[in-house]
Amino acid sequence: VSQSASRSSVILQAFLSKKAVPQALLFQGAEGSGKRAAARLFAKRILCSGPASSDSTEGALQACGACLSCRKIKNRNHPDFSMLAPLEAGKAIKIDQVRQIQQQIFFKPIDGPKKILLIDPADKMNVAAANSLLKLLEEPPAHAILILISAQADSLLPTLLSRCQKIVFQALSLVQVTSAVMAQNHCQKAEARLIAATAQGQLEAALALKLEDAKTMDQDRHRLISSGELFQAALEFSRDSDLFQQALFYLRAWLRDALVCKAFPLSEGPDPEHLIFSWRRTALQAWADKRDFEDIQTLLTALQAVHFAQSRNINRQLSLEVLLLKIHQSRRCTMT
Ligand SMILES: [Zn+2]
Repeated sequence: VSQSASRSSVILQAFLSKKAVPQALLFQGAEGSGKRAAARLFAKRILCSGPASSDSTEGALQACGACLSCRKIKNRNHPDFSMLAPLEAGKAIKIDQVRQIQQQIFFKPIDGPKKILLIDPADKMNVAAANSLLKLLEEPPAHAILILISAQADSLLPTLLSRCQKIVFQALSLVQVTSAVMAQNHCQKAEARLIAATAQGQLEAALALKLEDAKTMDQDRHRLISSGELFQAALEFSRDSDLFQQALFYLRAWLRDALVCKAFPLSEGPDPEHLIFSWRRTALQAWADKRDFEDIQTLLTALQAVHFAQSRNINRQLSLEVLLLKIHQSRRCTMT
């Protein structure tokens, strides 16, 4: 999809064509960089018994999609493909889970020559689990391929890192995610952009998001900017860290678009191509007209401060309230 995505897929394709796939791989990159999708695609291709599709942008990485193996992966019942993940979202991967999967992986594959294990996110293994996995990485059975996936590879044990072949994924831009959505959904660019922006530019989330759901979510988030009930909005969007992240992303994208509006003469207005929220062009322009360039920059700085502070245990609701208040009070006073 992107320069870097194609760089990583070139490396992966080289492994496939040389039939020399390393037994331990680490797919690392920020959330939304496509590493998870690439790992699944790669695993699917390795296990696929059909011909490589030639008309795909991912080239030889694309599995046939029709063979028995591909269908089993799709139905999540492939005996030679397993996932190791936290039992509860956000919790650690425990040593018992690693031990259990370790026993299974020593059995010969059932359908083909290889057996693949995805560990996602690998940085969620606690120290005991990671040390247990290390034993497997030191002497994996010949048929096993282990793919570790992580957005925080720095926090993995150095001994684990040194045993893995690293494949680095760079975050995709909104434009790239929009193109990927267009290619998958066969939809209009404006619709694809709405989906990509609502998914905060994260590839997997964007590809899974339906247009109708994206529209609803967008309406809901737009209340952060538009409504008078800012305390209610602050309360709702600070309920958990995901919602809070969504609020910050929305506000940042809005302020960024407002700066773009300020950079264009009033008569012309901004080219919708330059806006994240191109479908709100009129509202954006009106909003930006009421504020100075410097005011919007000040708001962006305030938003950045909230963003940094969230890693410490700040009161989400209070900080969001203060930020929304600043945004609502930023209207230029025209009476001199
Ligand atoms: Zn296949």
